[in-house]
Amino acid sequence: MSKDEFSARFWGTRGAVSSPTRQSVKYGGNTACVEVRCGEKILILDAGSGFRLLGLDLQEQNKLDFELFFTHFHYDHICGLPFFAPLYNPDCKMRIWSGHLERKDATQKSIKDYMSHPFFPVGPEVFNADISYRDFRSGDTLSPTEDIKISTCALNHPGGATGYRIDYNGRSLCYVTDTEHRPDGLDNNILQLIEGADMMIYDATYADSEYPNYIDFGHSTWEQGILLCQAANVERFGIFHHRPSRTDSKLDAIEREAKSKFSGSFATRDGLKIVL
Ligand SMILES: [Zn+2]
Ligand SMILES: [Zn+2]
Repeated sequence: MSKDEFSARFWGTRGAVSSPTRQSVKYGGNTACVEVRCGEKILILDAGSGFRLLGLDLQEQNKLDFELFFTHFHYDHICGLPFFAPLYNPDCKMRIWSGHLERKDATQKSIKDYMSHPFFPVGPEVFNADISYRDFRSGDTLSPTEDIKISTCALNHPGGATGYRIDYNGRSLCYVTDTEHRPDGLDNNILQLIEGADMMIYDATYADSEYPNYIDFGHSTWEQGILLCQAANVERFGIFHHRPSRTDSKLDAIEREAKSKFSGSFATRDGLKIVL
């Protein structure tokens, strides 16, 4: 990999719950996890069920140093965490970040709560890796290294969530899930975050036609994703956080329709790699 490479690989693109079926072989059934490479640096967005497979891949490449950024801790974004093989390697170093809970030690405490009885058999003390927990506030700007700038914003989701924009080497990638659009126009927090970005990955759980049945569930539509990209001059739109009921043929149809309205649209799928 070149020093300048900036890429995103999708390891899980579903929302809510993993949904592997014979009708979802093309797009996959794992929940949210995206691997971002900024040269040699590995950033990971969310630790849904796809996080387990990413761990095996990184282990094979003998990679041991990671930044993990959580949008929030709903199960579909954290369920893969205990199954990430490098966490059991004492040579692994991981910094885990979250910013949606305005509480000191929120990141460490939430993971401890998640991995506890009666929900889980063992606590995070089973990890052998050198883990540090980093709390921030949605809206803060983070710099895990000098050449990577990460901007964040608060999203509209029950219990809160954080949207991310990663700028590296003159290009930019935004990760905006889980969030519900506002009834009175486009979300200003998001517009500011994504302005002029090369790509936005967005919560497209629903279509506009389905959304009225799910108001206040905390999710958005692919049509809203297009409006945001058009308003903020974003080049590419990754349709993400697919409903468990979305079959391959349904996602193909959504991608076709989205492309006809905004040519930079594509449906994300497990295994897809995009070089920015
Ligand atoms: Zn979710
Ligand atoms: Zn959520």
